[in-house]
Order: sequence, then structure tokens, then C-alpha cells
Amino acid sequence: MGKNSETSKDISRRDFLKSTAGAAIATGAVLGIGITKNNAYAKEEMPKTWDESYDVVIIGSGFAGLAAAIEAKIAGANVIVIEKMPMHGGNSIINGGDFSASGTKMQKDAGVQDSPELMLKDMLKAGLYINNPELAKIVAYGSKDAIEWCENYIGAKFARLNFHGGHSVKRAHQTINASGSELVNKMLAKAKGLGVNIQTRTKLERFISNENNRIIGIEVKKNYRFPDEKTGKKAYIKASKAVILASGGFSRDVNLRKIHDPRLDERFESTNHPGATGEALLAACIARAMDVHMDWIQLGPWTSPDEKGFGYVPLFCERLVGYGPMINPKTGKRFFKETGNRKERADAIILIGQPVLIMGDSYAVKKQVFPNALEKGLENGSIKKFDKLEDLAKAYDIPVNIFMEEITRWNSFVEKKKDLDFDCMIFPDAKPMVEPPFYAARLWPKVHHTMGGLVINKDAQVMGFDLKPVTGLYAAGEVTGGIHGAVRLGGVAMADCIVFGRIAGKNSAKEKSWG
Ligand code: ADP
Repeated sequence: MGKNSETSKDISRRDFLKSTAGAAIATGAVLGIGITKNNAYAKEEMPKTWDESYDVVIIGSGFAGLAAAIEAKIAGANVIVIEKMPMHGGNSIINGGDFSASGTKMQKDAGVQDSPELMLKDMLKAGLYINNPELAKIVAYGSKDAIEWCENYIGAKFARLNFHGGHSVKRAHQTINASGSELVNKMLAKAKGLGVNIQTRTKLERFISNENNRIIGIEVKKNYRFPDEKTGKKAYIKASKAVILASGGFSRDVNLRKIHDPRLDERFESTNHPGATGEALLAACIARAMDVHMDWIQLGPWTSPDEKGFGYVPLFCERLVGYGPMINPKTGKRFFKETGNRKERADAIILIGQPVLIMGDSYAVKKQVFPNALEKGLENGSIKKFDKLEDLAKAYDIPVNIFMEEITRWNSFVEKKKDLDFDCMIFPDAKPMVEPPFYAARLWPKVHHTMGGLVINKDAQVMGFDLKPVTGLYAAGEVTGGIHGAVRLGGVAMADCIVFGRIAGKNSAKEKSWG
């Protein structure tokens, strides 16, 4: 053996840790999960007593968790929702409030012809046909009923119909305040009114299953102060019927992100709330749940490098596509179909390698952009206003003459309602960009949605590595995977959360109590 060779002890240990089983056991050791002869994932510590006991225990207080809680409670279960953050709502409370649904009254009133078939077709096409078609169909066909439930039962108000890239028609129903908070806050009030117990600062640490691998409860940290892992006191919560995981996606979990898509390192910001991390998803995997499509991580092409987080520019950009052009400031020209889906557009911007622009004139902006978003974007400097197009070009260092020619060309397409260069959808009420003042914002993608997550079946039961449901475990919302395939279309997250949250809630309440 040469100088650099390793002892057999070193080699075996390293090789062991490299193997999947070794890594899983090492992870288990970190998480305090021991190993027995019969079951590599058996729990080291079974609670001697339970600190609290419920029929249904739900993790996460966003759209999916609250929809599940309300349905489980209505079905007669005793329900708790735990939330690790100091405040409820997760990403749901900070999203733009767009709910994609097909065949609704609002669409009919606006003369939009739509159908669940068309919505499903759009979802599958954008998803590159790797979506689980059965689950995608449940979302598309259930979307109308889901939004009507939000309106009629929850009392949420939807005021406008929006377009999102990749959809064939306008089908995003926007809440009255252009924010998910309209729905989340009303769902929270409804859940509380029904008697659901909501506990914030309570973090799921691990799932507890019995000798038959049935999920029977969870270990949590109470009074947890995100993100300080040293805080919180251990407690055990029994779930007599089921646990529903509705913990959202992992867009803010840079380590987990990098494992699945190494390009998405610290350089990429995220639109998500700080708690969008993947530990609850991983805890479910340790409890035998299977994951899928984890490397399909979506970048929002409509975010701005000139403001933090989600910001206001997405609400400006997405309302302007189909009304105003996206311009590459380097060339002064358009470069991609503005109404393309999120992935196509984000990829095109990353290929250019520097921020691009979205713009619109007074007519389009007044008509399309929610006034509060415009005002806030102007205030924080991410949206800028110009009296002349030439001034806009100067401010962003765009070659003026080429840019002016490009705008003339764009205006001719708007007049004809046909884009000969990129086949952008031009809406019937769009007008040539001539009315000052003109508005523009820079765009650079941020990590927005994780399409991958836990495998569920049509009943929202989580599937295990034995391809059978993990008894006692349900999941809904962004923590699940496979529904959207490669690309989640705008507004379909809300439909997905409400449709599958309700399914999970109803079915969990029907489970037989284990004790
Ligand atoms: P969805 O849109 O799928 O409903 P959201 O992001 O809106 O997802 O909500 C998920 C919620 O779950 C967030 O508020 C998040 O803080 C919470 N959450 C995530 N991980 C945990 C955990 N380990 N314990 C408790 N709550 C969690």
C-alpha cells in the first residue's frame, strides 16, 4: 500500500456513508433517530405520554393546511394546526392572490370561453407532460368548485380576471386586495370560529409511527423562535386519525435546492417567506414517504433585482404581458414571447445574463396594474416613470434608435393583434404603446416554487417507498410533488392547495382512530 492509501476502516466507513442507506442513517443520527434490527428507521424515542391529543394534526397554516383543517373539523374531527413561524399564512399570505379556475361566472361575464379540459391541457403542456395526469385532472376539474367554496363558504372576494403566461385564456381570479391574505385571513377566522386549535411557533421535528408503520403522532418544538434551532421545548402531539403535512415548498432552503439543482445556489434570491424550508418534507421521507420531481424548481421570470423578495414588480409585469413589450437593454429589441410560461421566460432571461425590461404606457398600466402595486413599486424605485420613450431608453442604457424602431414594430403587431416575431398573445383591448407617461421595471428571476415534493394519490394520502399509502399520513399543497410536472402555471397553486387541502381534510377525518 502506498502512502496515500486508506486503512480498510477508513474506506469502509466512507463508502458506507456514501451509500444511500449510510446517508439516510447518518441523517437519522443527526435527527436523533435510532436503528433497530428490524427497521432501519425505527424511532429511538417513543413518547411515554402524549402532551396533547387530537384526531387530526395539521402542519402548516397556508391555503392547504387551513383548507384541510376546515374540512376535517366540519367532518367532526378534533383538529390542531401547528405553524413554526410567529405568524400564520406562509407563502399563501404573501402571494398575489391569483386563483386559476375554469368555467366560472366571472369568466362568463367577461366573455372568456374556458373549460376544465382546456385548463388541464395547459397544465400538462407547460408541465412537459410529466405531470401526474390523474392529480392534475382533479385540480383542473375541481378548480371551479374550489373557488366557489372560497367565495361562498369562506367569504373571500375576487375582483378581477388576470392572464398568466402559459394559460390559453384569462383564468386567474384575483382577490380584491391583490393578495393571498384576503383568503388566508378569512380561512383562519373560519377555522378558529369552527373550533380549530391554531398554534404558532410550534415546529414539526419528526413523525412518530408505531410498529405497523402507521403514523400516530409527531414530535414538535414549542415556543420555537425561527430560525434558532436551539430554541423551543420538545413535546409530543398524538394524532388518533391522521397527520396532514401542508408545510409548503423549499424555495428558501439553499442546501436542499442545491442538492437537486446545483445552479440554484446563494446567488439566486427567492420570492418566498423565510420559513419555506424543506425539513418537514425530509422528515416525511424519513418516515417512509416517497418524493418525486425534486429537481424541478421554478424561477419566477417577473421578479425585480431592485427590490427584496416577491415585491411589487411581479404584479406589474404579469399584468402587462400581452399589453407591453419585454426588451433586452443590450440590444434594444424584444427577445422572447412575453406570454410564454414561467420556465421559458426565466430561461430566456438567464441566457441573456443580465436583467431585462418590461414596460407599458399609461393606457396599459392604468387599465391593468393594481394601483397599490404601482404606487409601492414607484415608491421603492423598482418601477420607474418616464415622460418620453427616449428618456426611458437613456435611463436603462438602451440603444435609442433601435429601441424606437422596435417599439414601432411592436405597435404594428398590437394594431394587427398578431405578433409576427414571437407569437405573443396580444389581448383584444391592448393598444399601441404611445400614451405617456411610460413605466418600466427591470426583471431578473428569483426562486419561486418547488414543483417536487411528496407523492400523493387521488385521496391525498402520501405514498411510501413500498408504493402503498403511508397509513395515517396525508399531504396537500406545495409540499406535494408531481401535479404540476416541470412547470407550475400562474394561479394554479391556489387551486391545487384548496382542492387537495379539502380532500385531505375530509379523508383524514374518515380514518379509523388507532387509539
Ligand atoms: P401552501 O401554499 O402549500 O399552503 P404555505 O407556504 O402557504 O404552503 O404554508 C406552509 C406553512 O407551513 C408555512 O407557514 C410554514 O412556515 C409552515 N411550516 C413549514 N415547515 C414547518 C415545520 N417544520 N413545522 C411547522 N410548520 C412548518
